[in-house]
Amino acid sequence: MHNKLVKFIQDIYQTKEFIPLHAPIFSGNEKAYINNTLESTFVSSVGEYVDKFEQQIEAFTGTAKAIATVNGTAALHTALYMAGVRSGDLVITQALTFVATCNALYHMGAEPVFVDVSKVSLGLCPKALEIYLEDNAIINNAGLCEDKSTGKIYRAVVPMHTFGHPVELDELIVVCKKWNIKLVEDAAESLGSFYKGKHTGTFGDFSAISFNGNKVITTGGGGMVLCKSIEDGIRTKHVTTTAKVSHPYDFFHDEAGFNYRLPNLNAALGCAQMEVLSKYLKQKRELSQEYNNFFDGSDFKFVLEPEYAQSNYWLNAIICPSAEVREKFIKETNMQGVMTRPIWQLMHRLPMYKNAKRGDLATSIWLESRLVNIPSSPVIIG
Ligand SMILES: *Cc1c(COP(=O)(O)O)cnc(C)c1O
Repeated sequence: MHNKLVKFIQDIYQTKEFIPLHAPIFSGNEKAYINNTLESTFVSSVGEYVDKFEQQIEAFTGTAKAIATVNGTAALHTALYMAGVRSGDLVITQALTFVATCNALYHMGAEPVFVDVSKVSLGLCPKALEIYLEDNAIINNAGLCEDKSTGKIYRAVVPMHTFGHPVELDELIVVCKKWNIKLVEDAAESLGSFYKGKHTGTFGDFSAISFNGNKVITTGGGGMVLCKSIEDGIRTKHVTTTAKVSHPYDFFHDEAGFNYRLPNLNAALGCAQMEVLSKYLKQKRELSQEYNNFFDGSDFKFVLEPEYAQSNYWLNAIICPSAEVREKFIKETNMQGVMTRPIWQLMHRLPMYKNAKRGDLATSIWLESRLVNIPSSPVIIG
């Protein structure tokens, strides 16, 4: 299988050189816009590209307000803060995620709690969440969701749209409402992914997107907080810009804010990338169809978008028939210059999260041992 696949991927990307998992492409106005920032000297935290980039994301996702940040982790940190997460709180998320999801809440003094993912979406499973809460939580006299054994508050649920595949949002929202827990979507990987026709990141109380170099589009480093209302957006901007109260010369800050503003230089790159986003998304869909056809009838299963969703297919993924086959597959393909990689090690295996509370993680463990990501950069299928 690996030899056949290496040839197939080399044909698609029309090269025998190293093929990365996901590489950025700058074929539009990137240079021109960056040059504009240099000529204007507005390269830093003030400038017209930041406003423009935020407006482009608002138009594309349909969110009420988008606030640009220095990276996706900072966007997630801000989203959690805005959702009311504070030191000592519990935050439920997936063990099957990139470490940034957990780090963002950990550095606020909150604790991650791990619940299993669904085989349909690879993201947080609504049934597993409900079962976990039934077993571990009560609604206390203040109406908050409290842990039965420690008395700590479950403040937020953070589903992550793994590889761009939207989680089962309707069902998750029902559970969050029932238990009075805020929903914060880690939409870092899902720009261009829609749940029942609505963009991911527009369901949560607050959500985060990433524009890191390996994502669908990039600003070098960058992120965006999606807010449900204009008022939330104004508050979020305030918090990410050192909470300075606007004044012609006086320095007054009304809370301990963050310096998380996206520089104009990076926003310029973002504006140019937004102009080609739809083209890249189309190419990525075509690529995923090619892969699906390729693996059809084999004992490798290509991961398709859930039937209720339109995925951006950020990273294409396959499920190997066994852990042994997977080891060999990863080794052989990488040796032949085609980058493939295993899914992240589950969060509770990392030293800082090994004592985290968790529910049953059977599906996460099953996926961890079998899943492989394969090259996914946008490409014109010849
Ligand atoms: C990329 C990513 C982030 C963080 O984004 P950065 O911009 O790299 O800080 C967070 N969560 C997930 C799931 C990601 O894939």
